[in-house]
Amino acid sequence: MANTELTARAWVAVLANRTELPFGSNLREHFSRARITSLCDCGCNSFECKVEPDSSLHPLFDRIGPLPSFEAAFETNTQEPVDVIFFTDANGYLSGIDISLGLSNHAPVPEQVQLGKLLYTMPDL
Ligand SMILES: [Zn+2]
Repeated sequence: MANTELTARAWVAVLANRTELPFGSNLREHFSRARITSLCDCGCNSFECKVEPDSSLHPLFDRIGPLPSFEAAFETNTQEPVDVIFFTDANGYLSGIDISLGLSNHAPVPEQVQLGKLLYTMPDL
């Protein structure tokens, strides 16, 4: 699907509601305070964003550990999984999410892709 700010917003809404991921409410809060700084146009749905350093938010991954990134792969209603990698900055604030089809984004993320079962996370939860 075309990668726009609305696409990013829709992905955050979906991902924040995945109860397997123990940072949904942080994700919602960080994204609401973030400014999108770039949207990848390769066909993936990745974006980068910036939360102001003095935002006094909990670090995104505060319930998991001091991680710079966290990966989760999901089954979809297509032949391919969707791979999601959340990134944080030095403050632990959301700095972007890579969202790609398959594990190497060999094709554009399709319109209306639906996430199914969580396949794995890195690190393990
Ligand atoms: Zn891309």
